[in-house]
Amino acid sequence: MELGLKGKLAVITGGSVGIGLAIADGFAAEGANLLIAARDVDRASAEAARIAARFGVRAEAVRADVATADGCARVIAAASGMGGADILINNAGTGSEETILTADDARWQFYWDLHVMAAVRLARGLVPQMKAKGGGVVLHNASICAVQPLWYEPIYNTTKAALMMFSKTLAMEVVGDNIRVNTVNPGLVLTPDWIKTAKLLAGDNWQAHLDKVAEDAGGMKRFASPEEIANLFVFLSSDKASYATGSTYFIDGGWLKTV
Ligand code: NDP
Repeated sequence: MELGLKGKLAVITGGSVGIGLAIADGFAAEGANLLIAARDVDRASAEAARIAARFGVRAEAVRADVATADGCARVIAAASGMGGADILINNAGTGSEETILTADDARWQFYWDLHVMAAVRLARGLVPQMKAKGGGVVLHNASICAVQPLWYEPIYNTTKAALMMFSKTLAMEVVGDNIRVNTVNPGLVLTPDWIKTAKLLAGDNWQAHLDKVAEDAGGMKRFASPEEIANLFVFLSSDKASYATGSTYFIDGGWLKTV
């Protein structure tokens, strides 16, 4: 299937590991060029170099904390230096663990900045680049938790729900500019972030913890691989998804309990 991604520039926040890295590999396999943004620029640069060598595309990394205005400005400038973004994947994010009654304002602000303000700031900077190129795609990696909460992470649930609404609203603002905007809500995806959380919650029994999480989720009763999620991101970014905008797509192995 020709996806029409050859030569496009895809900007991926958190593209150095986990789901974001699988998306980067997926785009490169289709001939897209990449800008990977992450705080650990050494890891991001190493992956960019590997991808460039493997797929023969241009792949670069930028050191950026996208939870800050300065970090977002660095991403926007780097994309401009590569000719302007065609695709933005807002993927950087992380799980939380707290209670509403004990979490302080700073904790709420941290996740608001990472999950919501990064998307706001990058839209302000990268959508104009897309407009100048005649169109583009913005995808937000939220979570099934945006609509089906996990009770131990209220801040994650809340900020991911806000991201979904931001995505819907941005979609309508740019619908006349040939820019499509959607959200993807994954379920359980086996990435370093989950393993980190499992070790925090269960110590040496982290694998048994993960097995129980999958069992409790129901449906397929297993974690997805990052690649299984990345395939949907690549498709939604492609010309084959030309009528898809303003929507949220769930990819959760049957975990979602509502229609
Ligand atoms: P990982 O922890 O494996 O990877 C996170 C990536 O984001 C890394 O590249 C990390 O690089 C980057 N990152 C984190 N914070 C920042 C920051 N402030 N600025 C720039 N980059 C940052 O996460 P996953 O692959 O598991 O998750 C990716 C996204 O998918 C997240 O938004 C998550 O909420 C969502 N998701 C994950 C699910 C899962 O089961 N794994 C399920 C549903 C949604 P560095 O540390 O170098 O900055």
